Amino acid sequence: MLKASWNNGISIKTDNIELILDPIKESELPSFVSHAHRDHICGLRSDYCIKISTIPTISIGELILKKKIKNAIPCNYGEPIDFHELELQLINSGHVFGSASLILKDRDVTLLYTGDLNFTDSLIQKAISPHECDILIIETTYGRPGIVFPPREQIYLDIIQWAAKTITEKHLPILLVYPLGKAQEITKLFNLYTSIPVVSHPSISRINFIFREFGNDLIYYDILNYGDEIIKSGDCVCLFPSNYNISLLKSKYPNSKIAIVTGWAAVYKFINFDACFPLSSHADYPQLIDFTLSCRPKKVFTIHGYAREFASRLTKMGIEAHPI
Ligand SMILES: [Zn+2]
Repeated sequence: MLKASWNNGISIKTDNIELILDPIKESELPSFVSHAHRDHICGLRSDYCIKISTIPTISIGELILKKKIKNAIPCNYGEPIDFHELELQLINSGHVFGSASLILKDRDVTLLYTGDLNFTDSLIQKAISPHECDILIIETTYGRPGIVFPPREQIYLDIIQWAAKTITEKHLPILLVYPLGKAQEITKLFNLYTSIPVVSHPSISRINFIFREFGNDLIYYDILNYGDEIIKSGDCVCLFPSNYNISLLKSKYPNSKIAIVTGWAAVYKFINFDACFPLSSHADYPQLIDFTLSCRPKKVFTIHGYAREFASRLTKMGIEAHPI
């Protein structure tokens, strides 16, 4: 019998084993780590527990945690894994480089845990593919009716136009982005559709380096390595991590215009920035509904963000659903 509950992460218990999905604390139990965003990599910290993850996520985890990750089971998408009489398989979740969803089969029951997901293609990532399952555990960061992102192509165009206009007006365009995910996507955007060089903060360059090591094409200049020279020329776009201190940025680059890139710009007003762009690595509400229906689950558990609201919507649609 397969049971899902909360135990410092999503606990999946079978007759033989307990597996923790994206633990939020160090744990001795075997863990699945869906991707290498900081709020998801706790499961990689302990030297003792077994960790199931993709090879890129383990590499980025080692970079962030500054240590060798021990007892990892590095997986490729689509490869079947036998684990304590469970059949496991990791698939692309569409969220960021290396991110995975987990398909878990226990005898005749199939469970799908999405982790963070995106159900639309981006310049660097294919969307997640729906998978029929009995139990679906889905992240619902933007799972509130009314949260709808503009078409991705439109946001791409808006970002390029803003950067080009800012340069023409003799200002330095700076985009604040997550170092894993948005940074690679926006670098690729400027590489593909403009001749504007991209200069990146070292925390972004380090992840870009791993992204390239896995065979992905990306052209960027690290700020400490020639990037500063390009900034002086005034003809470039700069990427900094989204938690970077804005006052510090303004004092370093008084001539800059600063924009933030986050899906939350579709929900809240960001008044401290010169511009904001609602580009997200997550699914919006209609995509979450569409994905859920495509998986045809008998039971749904929701997690993160609007978990309660999304579960109650599904219940109204006749699907058994609970926040976890
Ligand atoms: Zn994430």
